[in-house]
Amino acid sequence: EMFGQLTGGLEAAWSKLKGEEVLTKDNISEPMRDIRRALLEADVSLPVVRRFVQSVSDQAVGMGVIRGVKPDQQLVKIVHDELVKLMGGEVSELQFAKTGPTVILLAGLQGVGKTTVCAKLACYLKKQGKSCMLIAGDVYRPAAIDQLVILGEQVGVPVYTAGTDIKPADIAKQGLKEAKKNNVDVVIMDTAGRLQIDKGMMDELKDVKKFLNPTEVLLVVDAMTGQEAAALVTTFNVEIGITGAILTKLDGDSRGGAALSVKEVSGKPIKLVGRGERLEDLEPFYPDRMAGRILGMGDVLSFVEKATEVMRQEDAEDLQKKIMSAKFDFNDFLKQTRAVAKMGSMTRVLGMIPGMGKVSPAQIREAEKNLLVMEAMIEVMTPEERERPELLAESPERRKRIAKDSGKTEQQVSALVAQIFQMRVKMKNLMGVMEGGSIPALSG
Ligand code: GDP
Repeated sequence: EMFGQLTGGLEAAWSKLKGEEVLTKDNISEPMRDIRRALLEADVSLPVVRRFVQSVSDQAVGMGVIRGVKPDQQLVKIVHDELVKLMGGEVSELQFAKTGPTVILLAGLQGVGKTTVCAKLACYLKKQGKSCMLIAGDVYRPAAIDQLVILGEQVGVPVYTAGTDIKPADIAKQGLKEAKKNNVDVVIMDTAGRLQIDKGMMDELKDVKKFLNPTEVLLVVDAMTGQEAAALVTTFNVEIGITGAILTKLDGDSRGGAALSVKEVSGKPIKLVGRGERLEDLEPFYPDRMAGRILGMGDVLSFVEKATEVMRQEDAEDLQKKIMSAKFDFNDFLKQTRAVAKMGSMTRVLGMIPGMGKVSPAQIREAEKNLLVMEAMIEVMTPEERERPELLAESPERRKRIAKDSGKTEQQVSALVAQIFQMRVKMKNLMGVMEGGSIPALSG
């Protein structure tokens, strides 16, 4: 089964956390060894495994408790998100030319499934309403040309052939001319494979690429070859410059090393995957679906996501309560503003409080400047004045003294006094809004 071995290897890691309350440096060390072993057995390259394990364990230790979520479930989620990242995050779409035909040049070693991919790709694009033409460029194997012609007939797309006594670059040139004449949307060129990389093949590809000026240059690699596939993608990219890879035979791949390594090792995305011998068995490569399939735990993932979301809301709620419960005198004001300053980012805090809305960076800078001014004034207040802002509201003499001692103007002191009363009103209102709302309960 696809990724079956890897899935099994990772399950060992989760099982070690049964009965634990929280993820710690200690109790994740064994599960991390299991993850490391599972990835190495999956044939993911060692540096990639090292980075992966390091990142997962850092996140696991720093995560803390999510109410209602067990540590093993937490770890599943961390590993999932890291796997998605490893595979490039987003799906990497095929690009199409803005004018004229889109040209897709396919390269790859012999036997990886390149000829089949030509036909599968035509089938895939035809379903999207695009007209296609194939160009048979494998001049070393007449059988490959015949095979492409047969496959073309099955899919119902024309195949341009020019025999074997001609340079691939010339076939490319003639084929492209033919495609333009027929107003074809997408031209897919098959090229000759070799058993191994050799200079002749690379030179030929470079030549063909120069003539075709392709929108996509895709290297077809066999998933069964594991990290070797990732190394090939790197080599072809360095030699001829490619735009991505197509991973074939994923249906027979129980390990997953190629799917996991290609992007990280080569920097080039897997764009499509072949998952069977039928012409319909080609689809986009979705990193999140792949990660989900590897872990085989869809419910756990969505549960942890939901619980984390609820927890974030509860954090915000806590912060609100702290603000609201204060009588809110100048001491609270000072405490609050210092806490905010300490957190470094006012946006984050304000963003967590519903009803505060978006705050621009300019507004934050302004607010931070104001905080310094306010602090200076509050610092020279007597303890009594801090607790009872009324005293300052009633006495111009006190305000004058504070202005003098803090080096601010009387207007600034008056503004501060006015502000604390405004804040009290605002908070009372906010409190009313909040009491009407409710926080969704955690299910499961
Ligand atoms: P080429 O030498 O690279 O052109 O390889 P072919 O296209 O001739 O394919 C080689 C063999 O791999 C054929 O028997 C194909 O049916 C098989 N093949 C190609 N793609 C897949 C796939 O995604 N899954 C499976 N199971 N077999 C595939």
